[in-house]
Amino acid sequence: MLDALKAILGDPERVIGQIEDKYLTDTLGRLKGEADALVFALSTEEVSRVMKFAYENSIPVTARGAGTNLVGSTVPQKRGIILDLSRMNRILEVDEETFTAVIEPGVVLQDFQAYVESMGLFYPPDPGEKTATIGGNIATNAGGMRAVKYGVTRDYVRGLEVVLADGTVITSGSKNVKDASGLQLRQLFIGSEGTLGVITKCILRLVPKPEASLSVLVPYADLDSGIKSVHAIIAANASPTAIEFIERSVVELGERYTGVTFPCPEAKAYILLTFDGVREQVLQNAQRVRAVTEKTGALDYIALTDPRQAADIWKVRGCFVKAVEAVSEQEPVDLVVPINQTAAYIHYVHQVEAETGMQMIAFGHAGDGNVHLCIIRGDRDQETWDRELSAVMHMLYKKAHELGGLTSGEHGVGIAKQPYFFRNADPALLETMRAVKNALDPKRLLNDHISYLK
Ligand SMILES: Cc1cc2nc3c(=O)[nH]c(=O)nc-3n(C[C@H](O)[C@H](O)[C@H](O)COP(=O)(O)OP(=O)(O)OC[C@H]3O[C@@H](n4cnc5c(N)ncnc54)[C@H](O)[C@@H]3O)c2cc1C
Repeated sequence: MLDALKAILGDPERVIGQIEDKYLTDTLGRLKGEADALVFALSTEEVSRVMKFAYENSIPVTARGAGTNLVGSTVPQKRGIILDLSRMNRILEVDEETFTAVIEPGVVLQDFQAYVESMGLFYPPDPGEKTATIGGNIATNAGGMRAVKYGVTRDYVRGLEVVLADGTVITSGSKNVKDASGLQLRQLFIGSEGTLGVITKCILRLVPKPEASLSVLVPYADLDSGIKSVHAIIAANASPTAIEFIERSVVELGERYTGVTFPCPEAKAYILLTFDGVREQVLQNAQRVRAVTEKTGALDYIALTDPRQAADIWKVRGCFVKAVEAVSEQEPVDLVVPINQTAAYIHYVHQVEAETGMQMIAFGHAGDGNVHLCIIRGDRDQETWDRELSAVMHMLYKKAHELGGLTSGEHGVGIAKQPYFFRNADPALLETMRAVKNALDPKRLLNDHISYLK
C-alpha cells in the first residue's frame, strides 16, 4: 500500500509508514488506533487520487485536520489510511465585494481570523481551541462562545468542495447569499465528522469587523440567580455576543492554572458576557444588561474596560479543559439542554456528584444551553474508573435527554459519545442517517469507526 500511495503522490516524504502516536489518537490521547499509512495531501487532485485508490482496494480512510477533537473522531479503528489535510492550508481568496473567502481545509482557525481581521473583516465562529483547522471545524459544526449572537460554523459555510468516497469531486454552494437550486448537499457534510466525504475547499461567509467590543463580568451569590438572569438578558434585546456561566469552584481551578485572580471572590457563580458592534451600540447594550443584572440580584457589574484584565478573565474561561487535564485524566462532556433548563441541569450534576463521589467541573455557554463538564478520574484504578464513569455518564445523558437536550452541542459524537447517542436516538432517524451514509459511502470506508451510521 505504501508504494502505491508514494506513486500516487509522487512524493515519498508525504507517505509515512511508521506513524507517530499523535496521529493515531485525538487531543486527549486516551483512545488509540492503528493505521497502515499516514498521507499528507496537498491538493484536491491528490485527495481524489488517494480516495479512488482506497475505494478500488476497499481501504478505510480517516480524515484528519489538527486532531484537536475530544471524542476520538480521528482514531482509526480499521487500520487503513490517515488522510491528513493540515498542509492544504492556503487562503485562496478573500473577496471583500461579496464578503466571502475561499480557503483550503487545513487553514488554522486563529490564522484565518487574524488574516481577515487585518482586512477589516470578521469570521465569527470562535470555538475554544484556536489551533483547530477550518476543515475540522466544519466537519464538527464547531460552536463556541459567540454562538449566541452569530450562530455556529454552519451559518458561515456558503459552499464546499468535497471529495466523495470513490474519488469523485463535487462542489455544493457558491459565493451567493441565497441558494434554492436543488438539494443543499453541503449541509450534509457540515457536522458529519468526516463520515460522508473529505472537505477540500471551503467558501465561507464573512461579516464586517465589529468596531468595538466590551466584556462584562457579573458575579452572583448563587448559580441559580446567575443562570436565571440569562433569560432576562436575552429578552432585553441587548444582543450579547457571548454569555458564559462559571461556578466559583471552577474559577479557582482556572486561577491556579493561569495565575490570574478573578474579582469578587465571595461570589458563587459568574456570568461573563461580551458585546460587540458599533461603539455606541455596544455601550448602550451593556448598559441595558447592567439594569437587568441589578434587578436579578447581581453582587456587582464589572465592565472589563482594561484590555489586559479582559484578556486575563477570558484566559481563565478558556483554560478549564487543559487545567483539568494537567491534574487528572478526565472525560469531557458537551451536551446541550434547552436554555431554560441549564440551572436545573447543573443542580442535577451536583446531586450526582454528592451521590456518587465523582467530581465534575461544570461550565459552559449559558446563552445557548451548552453545558460542558469535565468528569475527573482522580486516583481511581482503571477498572473502578471505567465502571463508575459509565454509570455516571448514563445518569448525566439520561437526565439531559429527559429535559429535552441532546448528546453533543459542538464536539460531535465520535467514538466516545456513541453509547449515549445510540441510547437516545430515534430509530427511524438513525435509519435515515444510515441511508445517507450508504448512498455516499457504500463501501463504508470513511471514518467507519464512527459507527452509529452502521
Ligand atoms: C481546549 C479545547 C477547547 C475546545 N473548545 C471547543 C469549543 O468551544 N467549541 C467546539 O465546537 N469545539 C471545541 N473543541 C473541539 C475541537 O477543537 C473541535 O472539534 C475542532 O472543530 C476540530 O478541528 P480539527 O482541525 O482539530 O479536526 P480533527 O480533530 O482533526 O477532526 C475532527 C473531525 O473532523 C473530521 N475532519 C477533519 N478535517 C476534515 C476534512 N477536511 N474533511 C472531512 N472531515 C474532516 C475528522 O475526521 C474528525 O471526524 C475544543 C477542543 C479543545 C482541545
